[in-house]
Amino acid sequence: MNDDGEYGGSCFCGAVRFTVTGQPEAMGYCHCESCRHWSAGPANAFTLWKPDALRITQGAEKVLTYNKTARSYRKSCKTCGGHLFTEHPGWKLVDIYAAVIPELSFKPAVHVNYQETVLPIKDGLPKFKDVPKEMGGSGETIPE
Ligand SMILES: [Zn+2]
Ligand SMILES: [Zn+2]
Repeated sequence: MNDDGEYGGSCFCGAVRFTVTGQPEAMGYCHCESCRHWSAGPANAFTLWKPDALRITQGAEKVLTYNKTARSYRKSCKTCGGHLFTEHPGWKLVDIYAAVIPELSFKPAVHVNYQETVLPIKDGLPKFKDVPKEMGGSGETIPE
């Protein structure tokens, strides 16, 4: 991080590089089937930002976009297949995977879509059945 609160990140091979500026709107873990299937992992560590916080500084032409639904535009690197971020136009937020911004200290505050979990985690953080009310969900939480 530099003095402007700017964090650098990249894809797995480094062909695509970007910066994010400021602080995320939210950080946590998503347990939904889509995140798990796309990432091939048991949960997705997310950081949500306003889209203008993100600037691609190198390799913008190498960014591949795939959208299975209109809610999520998933971005990866054409060269290495490494995941970068997911745009959520309906929320006007972009999820930048915590794993691709090593300079940012990841401080998860919440679990979402926990009803779909395959990796129960006892960390004392709130576990939303789907997503919070302000994100269009039920706002219901599930006990650990
Ligand atoms: Zn790459
Ligand atoms: Zn998800």
